[in-house]
Amino acid sequence: MKLEHVSGSLETVEGLFNYVEQMGYGELHMKMDPATGLKAIVAIHNTNLGPALGGCRCIEYPTTAAAVVDALRLARGMTYKAALSSIPQGGGKAVLIRPQKIQDPKAYFEAFGRFVNDLGGRYITAKDSGTTMENLDHIASQTPFIASTTAMTGEDGDPSPYTALGVRRGIEAAVYFKLKRKNMEGLHVAIQGVGVVGYFLAKDLVARGAKITISDINPDAIQRAVDEFGANVVNPNEIHAVDCDIYAPCALGATLNKDSIPQIKASIIAGAANNQLAEPADCDSLIAKNILYAPDYVINAAGLIHASTKYNHLSDDVAKEKILAIYDTLYTIFDRAQLEQKTTCEIADTMAEEKFLN
Ligand code: NAD
Repeated sequence: MKLEHVSGSLETVEGLFNYVEQMGYGELHMKMDPATGLKAIVAIHNTNLGPALGGCRCIEYPTTAAAVVDALRLARGMTYKAALSSIPQGGGKAVLIRPQKIQDPKAYFEAFGRFVNDLGGRYITAKDSGTTMENLDHIASQTPFIASTTAMTGEDGDPSPYTALGVRRGIEAAVYFKLKRKNMEGLHVAIQGVGVVGYFLAKDLVARGAKITISDINPDAIQRAVDEFGANVVNPNEIHAVDCDIYAPCALGATLNKDSIPQIKASIIAGAANNQLAEPADCDSLIAKNILYAPDYVINAAGLIHASTKYNHLSDDVAKEKILAIYDTLYTIFDRAQLEQKTTCEIADTMAEEKFLN
């Protein structure tokens, strides 16, 4: 069942069950701890390939229903991402409805850690929006079911260099498929956002002989890219329309939409940003323009791959091997999409389902 076809209201318990059933769940757990203000939701979408792994998001929500929907959609996405990353994990996500002020962060995150522990290892937590490595260490004091702690991933726990490596591999797969080129020499890449992932990606591409054009809304990020790589710079509202070979969205979601797509000149779109398409139908518009699109959740999966290998006590070499394999996964998706006359988004979802539903 495609997400856009999922219906039902979360205002009644029946509506909620209807909604989660259509999304192929799974388990939905909720925990309240009045002493610390914890209101936590853990959605476990599918565990056929292994325990569910997914970050713990701690942000404010307008309603509890909005938080539940966020957890359900994110956890489902993690199932697809894990399946195509060939890691032994299912999809899960935790959403903590952030109170206006967390009075005692240590007690709050320890309470969440006990909740994760009570789930017995069916859900493994990790870092996500609104959580710090200190918070993660507090969770880890209560449960071994955690994939990012200072001890495991270092002080900043930043997966961005891995993500950038995976994106570069994805770009190379697209370049070989579409342009029949085995290297990046002389190719022109437009990168939207040179924060962390975009910066590492730009550095890697320039080292491989590519020419880059960038945009960012942060002047410091732009200056760093200009100083280090002599990048061309354009305004944020022009980057998608640059006359280039590859467009790499590495900033925000929903930047591929009915307004931007008609202006895109690149024949390949491959970047790190999550949820790049504003609407599922935008993938059809890309095909109509003969643009090869690397589905975001496949190309940006290296952070998840790294977290899984850490959790399973595998070496960095194993992580790297799986990250490099993003090339093969994407190439297969491109190939099947062409053969079956479908979008790369449809084929990616189908290939993931072939893995986790069988
Ligand atoms: P980041 O916040 O460090 O970088 C994003 C950059 O985009 C910032 O420099 C920001 O100023 C810039 N930006 C914001 N709005 C912009 C606009 N309108 N035009 C141009 N630039 C704009 O984030 P990041 O960690 O580098 O992640 C980049 C994207 O990749 C995000 O969508 C993130 O969700 C996704 N992603 C990141 C990782 C990871 O490992 N960090 C993993 C998977 C997916």
